Amino acid sequence: MREFELIEAIRRSNPDLGPSVIVPPGDDLGMVRLPEGTELLAGVDQVVAGVHLAADAPPEAYGRKVVNRSLSDVAAMACIPVGALVTAVLPTELMSDDEWSLAFAKAAREAALAFDVPLFGGDVATFPMGAGAFTASATVLAVPDGEVGGRVVLRNGASPGDRLYVSGRFGCSLDVDGGGHHLDFVPRVELARRLHAELGDALTAMIDVSDGLASEIGHLAAESEVSISLDAGAVPRRHGADAIRALSDGEDYELCFTVGPGGVVPSELDGVLLTRVGEVDVGGGVVMHEDGRPVALDRTGWEHAE
Ligand SMILES: [Mg+2]
Repeated sequence: MREFELIEAIRRSNPDLGPSVIVPPGDDLGMVRLPEGTELLAGVDQVVAGVHLAADAPPEAYGRKVVNRSLSDVAAMACIPVGALVTAVLPTELMSDDEWSLAFAKAAREAALAFDVPLFGGDVATFPMGAGAFTASATVLAVPDGEVGGRVVLRNGASPGDRLYVSGRFGCSLDVDGGGHHLDFVPRVELARRLHAELGDALTAMIDVSDGLASEIGHLAAESEVSISLDAGAVPRRHGADAIRALSDGEDYELCFTVGPGGVVPSELDGVLLTRVGEVDVGGGVVMHEDGRPVALDRTGWEHAE
């Protein structure tokens, strides 16, 4: 198939996109209806063959992951996703493989629909065989959650005295490509909304963990202008992960969040483990300790500081 034909085939294979889609794919822009006065959030994320997925990963894995990565960012802000756009840059040999490209499109659409998100637009481009790697992006639009007064949870809200929590487990997400966690994770969109509903303003700051947990905690600390003390040994690990990999592997797509003094966090919510792993203090940066001893993470592993 050629570019135009592929887009037409994707359009024809679209199911009914639902009442929020006013202008479906086919025009220059798609259009979704928002509740009056609603604020709109948008984010975009990419997957690159050989970087975020094995170069020979199946089309379904690419389609699912590109959408779920963007949905994970929506979860990080405890918002409601309302629409998605997907682009793909295909080598000519994949463009001519109808089965591959349509399976990619179908998987992306189904990943979005799992969260009632219409995939209402996108683009396809090609490059000559051998000239690069397959790349895809997903743009997700989202709105604040009206059930919590339209509040959005940012990275900069942590204060000294808050506690640090994580959802789920960490490390070894990229192991066993084709069956690893990074291919079948569920973006924590619903969990984030539940947490926000339960904790309200006590959910002070949040981020999703796509890079390593330690570095994401660093972002929270920097944006909030606080110091965060992390109990490395308390971080729940995925099968096969040691403490170092749990903190540095990345691709976990879990939530990392801070909770103010009034907030009570259950040990589990909707079947997802919630674990207290640290405290927020005055100062800056991340201070890690294990069994009461300060540790630092470098490329080769733990550095036990004296
Ligand atoms: Mg993120």
